[in-house]
Amino acid sequence: MPETLFERMTAIARGEGIAAKAAHVRSEAVKGAGAHHCHWPGCTRRVPPSMWGCRDHWFRLPRNLRTRIWSAYRAGQEISKTPSREYVEASREAQEWARKDDLRERGWEYDL
Ligand SMILES: [Zn+2]
Repeated sequence: MPETLFERMTAIARGEGIAAKAAHVRSEAVKGAGAHHCHWPGCTRRVPPSMWGCRDHWFRLPRNLRTRIWSAYRAGQEISKTPSREYVEASREAQEWARKDDLRERGWEYDL
């Protein structure tokens, strides 16, 4: 398994895909969260920068949104600060979904 960030990104570029990407996220996760927090609106839990959100909120997202975020995620984007447009859009959409989900849970959602 590639060890350095450069090797991992090269592996990903070569199409070694999911396994290399997952290995990258795991290896970044052990470095800890720093100041990065879950993207779920209002959640203050700290999560590693390579992850979208805390475990609870990540799994609350519908599978199709998780798949979109995961496929748009490029290893190292949290270090280079250059997420793809697809990632940013998918992430925003997930936050939009999360806001509605919070309202649904409180019974406040209604159609205007
Ligand atoms: Zn959260």
